[in-house]
Parts: sequence; structure tokens; C-alpha cells
Amino acid sequence: MKVKFLDLKAQYDSIRSDIDAAVARILDNCSFIGGPDVAGFEAEFAEFQHAEHCVGVANGTDAIEIAIEALQLERGSEILVPANSFIASSEAVSRGGHSVVFCEPTADQYTIDPEDVARRITERTAAIIGVHLYGNPCDMTALRTLADRHRLAIIEDAAQAHGAEWQGRRVGAIGDIGTFSFYPGKNLGAYGDAGAIVTNNSDLAKRCRMIANHGRIEKYNHLFEGRNSRLDGLQAAVLRVKLRSLDSWVSRRNEIAFRYRAQLGDVTELVLPGAVANARHAYHLFVVRTPRRDELKSFLAEQGIETGIHYPIALPDLPAYQHMRDSRTPQRASELAPQLLSLPIGEHLSDEQVDYVCAAVRAFFHEGVAASTDAIAHSVAS
Ligand SMILES: *Cc1c(COP(=O)(O)O)cnc(C)c1O
Repeated sequence: MKVKFLDLKAQYDSIRSDIDAAVARILDNCSFIGGPDVAGFEAEFAEFQHAEHCVGVANGTDAIEIAIEALQLERGSEILVPANSFIASSEAVSRGGHSVVFCEPTADQYTIDPEDVARRITERTAAIIGVHLYGNPCDMTALRTLADRHRLAIIEDAAQAHGAEWQGRRVGAIGDIGTFSFYPGKNLGAYGDAGAIVTNNSDLAKRCRMIANHGRIEKYNHLFEGRNSRLDGLQAAVLRVKLRSLDSWVSRRNEIAFRYRAQLGDVTELVLPGAVANARHAYHLFVVRTPRRDELKSFLAEQGIETGIHYPIALPDLPAYQHMRDSRTPQRASELAPQLLSLPIGEHLSDEQVDYVCAAVRAFFHEGVAASTDAIAHSVAS
């Protein structure tokens, strides 16, 4: 049996007529930049994320950079970033003229550890970037307490967390400002690069919109120097179609996660991802942990099962950050990196495929690498 990690073609096939109609509409009315679909998507996504404002931008990395710029922090401020994320989370800090301060993730949730955040706050700290890594909401209550005490801004990097909830609230606008990526492989993906910023603060929303569009007040009148980072009409039209399915896709991801937990929970050598009480995980990724990660990955590949690694190198260990290493550089992200494996998850998977993955993982741990694909298929069937 083949189990794909991601199947954008299957997803397209399931919504093909709506997508084709949306794309045809944009080609017909030539609203390539701006226009009714961009405005429509912004309104619909704001509503979906329980945010007052949504500003479409060109990608998720720009979203973080623009959010940071809009906060108007003092130049050279320190911004706390988890040591385990995609580089965009920290890159945006440096590119904005600020200093990255890496923080430890927690050992069970892999999201930024509020206790470590507390230890790293200084007089120069201005903001915390909470990354809802893998779709798992970070502890927004603890971050809010720290942010209030030290007058820090909270930026939520929700690039992996469309549809995730923290205590009944959708992530993104729980902090001061939140950012999303619609990179094609994300839970809500465009057919190219796209991103968005959400916030309940209308001044911030207005500034983001201006920064993303050359500081423009009217066509050729500019209040300040901004940049070009706009969401285009084609992407907005595609996103509007897909947004209608997002909730059911996230629910399906949760069902699959439940299935993995039910069948893999007793495998002692495997650590399953921590589930936060009172939160809805978006399960962009289902990340398991074992010291035998590389062996497990190749074993699953031999059984036709694709897996991923997020991320092979912790941020402080990247060549890009060697200049910042010192005795306080976080350790845990580096220890976790070689042990984490992302199992396939997504609405493209059938229960049968998930059971097949579980049987293969069990075979790896209980019966060694000798089990053949046939034996696994047989154990699933019986
Ligand atoms: C994907 C991602 C980004 C960047 O989004 P792009 O749209 O690719 O620029 C930022 N942060 C995290 C955590 C991501 O996963």
C-alpha cells in the first residue's frame, strides 16, 4: 500500500469544479491584484479566525515581517522566538532590525516554554513570537501573563495552525497580532505563495495594510516607505473555495490523530505528541519521537509510507545562527531534532491507510525490521 504524506492532487480533485469556476471568474474579470475576491477572502478568513481584521499579504514570512514592523518596536529590541520552528519565525526578527533570542520548547508539547521565556526576558525585550508549532496551540494564557507583566507584544505565528483553538478561541488574534501562511502544503493552502495577518487592533491592521502596499494613502500618494506584499486575486479566489472545507479537513486530521493514539499509545519506545486540554490541535503535522527515528523512517519508506522531518536542524544549530551561540543557547530543541518524525496526516488518508501506518510502526518496534509489507497488510486485515 502507498501512503502519501501530502496529496494536493487528490484535494484538487475533490473540489475541482469550484476551483475551476473561481479561477475562471478571476480570468474573466481580470482582478489580478486586489478586487472583490481579495476583500471577500479577508472578510471570510477574519470571521473564520474570530478576528476583527484580516490583511492578505504575499506569503507567511512577509506576514511576520510586516506584523513586527507594524508594532513599531524600538530598533534593536529583543524578540523571543522558539528554538524549534521554521526559519521564517526568526528571520523576520533580524530582518526587521531586532535581535533574536531563542527559547526552549517544552518537552511534551514542543511549543515555546513559558518558563524559559520568563528566564530570558530583559529590559530590551519587546515581544514574544508564539509559534503554534505543528498546529498545536502554545500556552497563550501563560504568555499573556508574562506579556502583561513585562509590557511585551505577542505575535502568533499561526502558519501551521489554521483552525486551531485555545480555550474555545481560534488562534491568531488571541495575542496582539497573528500571522498565517497559505503555502500550498499548509492546512489551508493556496496555489502559489500567499499569507495573511489577523488582529483585533484596527490601528495595527491599518498599518499592516499600508506597509504591505507601499505606505500608500491613495494611488500615487505615500505616507511612508512600505513594500509590495499583496495577496493576489487568483490566490484569494482559490482560498475562498478551500476555506469552506477547512473545518471539516481539520476535524478529519483530529480523527486521524485519535486513530494514531488509539493504536500507537502503548508502544513504549514511541512518544506521541502531547495533547493540550481545552485546546483544539489543527494537526498540521503528527510528530512522534523515538531515538531510532532514522531507522523507523527508512523502514516505513520500504512499506510505501512517506514521512517527514520537521525540522532536521534546530534553529540555533543552523549555519545562519552560529554567530549567536553562547552558553545560554537552548539545548532541548537540538536534542529533539534527531528524534522527531512526522507521520502522514491529512484528509487524503483513509482509515485503512492510517491503520496500515500503525501496523507498520508496531511491526518496527515489536517484530524488528523483518516484517514484510504482506505481513503488515495481513495483520491489518485480520
Ligand atoms: C510555513 C511557515 C512560515 C512561512 O510561510 P511562507 O508562506 O512559506 O513564507 C512561517 N512560520 C512557520 C512556522 C511556517 O511553518
